[in-house]
Amino acid sequence: MDLYSGHINKLVEELASLPGIGGKSAQRLAFHIINMPKDRVERLTRTISEARENVHYCKICCTLTDDEVCPICSNEKRDHHTIMVVENTRDLAAYEKTGKYEGVYHVLHGAISPMLGVGPGDIKLTELMQRLQTEDISEVIVATNSSLEGETTAMYISKLIKPTGIKVTRIASGVPVGGDLEYIDEVTLLRALEGRTEL
Ligand code: ZN
Repeated sequence: MDLYSGHINKLVEELASLPGIGGKSAQRLAFHIINMPKDRVERLTRTISEARENVHYCKICCTLTDDEVCPICSNEKRDHHTIMVVENTRDLAAYEKTGKYEGVYHVLHGAISPMLGVGPGDIKLTELMQRLQTEDISEVIVATNSSLEGETTAMYISKLIKPTGIKVTRIASGVPVGGDLEYIDEVTLLRALEGRTEL
């Protein structure tokens, strides 16, 4: 029952498998792409491949970067004794946009979720613990989302770090429950940071 060509079906299927793109959007995008000039399509595919090829994890904080060490980790003016732990690079970007946080970050690339089968070994926790052993850290601010997964992860991190004697804090819950950090305004983010409490 192919209404269109097999190629279009395949394209629709690929696009629909991306997060946030439903069947209708996938169809619209597919037809848009088919009608684009060929050189535009080539540029788009090249941009995707090059981004995938050249972006990798910062070897210190695990954020996504073009370099071996990201611009934040290599910035000497930042406070390298304070680490803010976030779930993903978009959350890091949200805090960076406030321009008020001077420490460095650690990006977990996920949160612990027994329901989705994501365990502690599936996020960048080993890397975090290694940093705590090799760097001179005075505070770890846990800024995971206030979702069930984010809270579970925060508790887990606190339990891991407590025995090391390093101060662990959690951002205040000015952030709405279940709220994704990346969608929250800067004032709320700063208030959450300032109102952080020790875990
Ligand atoms: Zn980094």
